[in-house]
Amino acid sequence: MAAAEKSARSLGDLQAAGLLGAEVTPDLAAVAGRYAVSVTPGVLRAIRGGDPEGGVARQYLPSSEELQEFPAELDDPIGDGPHSPVKGVVHRYDDRVLLNLLKTCAVYCRFCFRREMVGPGARGLDSAELEAALDYIRGEERIWEVIFSGGDPLTLSARRIRAVLEELARIPHVGVARFHTRVPAVAPELVTEELLAALRAGPTAFVVLHVNHPDELTAEVRAAIARLADAGIPLLSQSVLLKGVNNSAEVLGRLFRALVQNRVKPYYLHHADLARGTGHFRTSIAEGQEIVDGLRQGHSGLCIPAYVLDLPGGAGKVPVARSWILGEAEGSYLLRDRHGAEHAYRDHAAAQQKRPDRG
Ligand code: SF4
Repeated sequence: MAAAEKSARSLGDLQAAGLLGAEVTPDLAAVAGRYAVSVTPGVLRAIRGGDPEGGVARQYLPSSEELQEFPAELDDPIGDGPHSPVKGVVHRYDDRVLLNLLKTCAVYCRFCFRREMVGPGARGLDSAELEAALDYIRGEERIWEVIFSGGDPLTLSARRIRAVLEELARIPHVGVARFHTRVPAVAPELVTEELLAALRAGPTAFVVLHVNHPDELTAEVRAAIARLADAGIPLLSQSVLLKGVNNSAEVLGRLFRALVQNRVKPYYLHHADLARGTGHFRTSIAEGQEIVDGLRQGHSGLCIPAYVLDLPGGAGKVPVARSWILGEAEGSYLLRDRHGAEHAYRDHAAAQQKRPDRG
């Protein structure tokens, strides 16, 4: 492989790729010493082909701003730890678990909510630990869905993915395997025929593509998405609302329309988590609500994901978009439309249910 086709895994590599100045400041060196760096060849090309300080670059290139921490920031911002019954499993919601097989990714996103846990030196599950995780799933009949999450599950070999899915297929109560991944967007060459066949080897597989900016959807990325869709894999997306990357209805609207046109349904828009050193990416919830309202005004419902926040401590996701119900009294509701106009609505079914029996 030519040097230009390797991932950049250090500040020196990023300098060689022409994406950092000649001088590395001590602050930047401290950031790279604390949080992992990796930018794949496809992302390097997307950065070079666009604005070097734009929405793609900002997601992947380390910044001295990452040294600034706020008191509310946490090592484990969404509370995986307290909900982990065995290594690699997070059981937060009744009918589904996260199964984290590995702790490495193709890229290391500068806003990552698991940035204290993922990185090239971090060890995933060995075979005994995987067996213990599968035993937990076998023993909990309420588990219907197994969600593979970061580290990036689609960086595993097709052989390993197939082996785990075949084990899940032998568990009668498991109906769905969901993969949360950056791979189609950052390493589209990994979406091979072998991977597609592996994804069909177990319970119904969904792929949830993590993508945050329309410029990430290069021709190679769209081709990888098409391979997944043509193979019959249902595709959803998740995005993180990030200041300086996508915090406008215009950018997100372009992203979500492009995703829908490429057969990916936008599923989640995450409010940025309280990961350490990520305050420069966080918007206020009020700004997020404005943006989501702006999206609703001019975009098909197909293009509108749920705007959610993961509660610190691990209590789970809550929708945080502004409510459409402004008030309710005795079966009458005050509702707002997408332009903000208010409308009264009488809930006739509720009124009938309350009517006293005249028989
Ligand atoms: S791919 Fe996911 S888990 Fe990996 S660094 Fe990015 S956000 Fe974190």
